Amino acid sequence: MVDMKPAGFGSIRLLIPALLIAFAVTGCGRQPSKHPSKVLVAAGIAPMANFAKKVGGDLVRVELIVPPNASPHTYQPSPHQMKMLTRASVLVLNGVKLEFWADKLVEAANNPRLIVVNTSDGLPLLTESDDKVHGGANPHVWLDPINAIRQVEAIRNGLVKADPTHARIYAQNARRFIQEIKKLHADISDEVKKWRSRSFISFHPAWAYFARRYGLREAAVIEKSPGREPSPSEIKQVVDIACAIRARAIFAETQFSTKPAEVIAEEIGAKLAILDPIGKPPDYDYIKTMRANLDQMAKALR
Ligand SMILES: [Zn+2]
Repeated sequence: MVDMKPAGFGSIRLLIPALLIAFAVTGCGRQPSKHPSKVLVAAGIAPMANFAKKVGGDLVRVELIVPPNASPHTYQPSPHQMKMLTRASVLVLNGVKLEFWADKLVEAANNPRLIVVNTSDGLPLLTESDDKVHGGANPHVWLDPINAIRQVEAIRNGLVKADPTHARIYAQNARRFIQEIKKLHADISDEVKKWRSRSFISFHPAWAYFARRYGLREAAVIEKSPGREPSPSEIKQVVDIACAIRARAIFAETQFSTKPAEVIAEEIGAKLAILDPIGKPPDYDYIKTMRANLDQMAKALR
């Protein structure tokens, strides 16, 4: 039977139990969480944060650790970020020691619930004997879209483990995003075919995986150790190599000083391509960033 009492009276009676439930849930004056039902995901670098957001969609809240304008090779997480990790369900790392602070941070967080996803596990790594900047395997795996697909799959598996109820949604989101990355890969492959030159000089060896995938050649690297500007004699060495191979492009990066690269480009009459391997806030987007990088490279190498 339908209750025909005036609407006002009925709604007050409904309100009281609702308020009681709200107080019971928040308990002893604690503030209710702003995102009570979202899975908290911490991500080492911006590309991993973007991948996690793409796979997690509305089900996750992603907190980035290395800010996009900082160099991941030198950034140290803040105490605030450490605290955040005590509440997180998943930590997404690029791996290959790019997040050199990760072991200590995970230990300090002492969070038994935390699932650590090392997205580069099992990827074929590049270890150049003369890569003094990374002092081991090159960590910039995500700049090869085929690697990025594997990293997205690892993130999907981590989210499914943390939140199995929504496994199907994570799988669907991952599938859709991987399709976009495949399209990006096809477009890069087509574009590179049109280039007259395939050799470049880079400021910092971020593009090694990209170069391997698309048949480009990194002829020399300007930066010899992380965070230190090259000396005049190191610059001269690079200029000599660049002249010998008639390099048409110098790749510099937004996260580093572009001055030494500018000097060399001017010296040898090469074009400077300012690339962004990490991406910018607020809406960091892997696909968009890679397409912008491709445009920059194309201007120098076509
Ligand atoms: Zn690097």
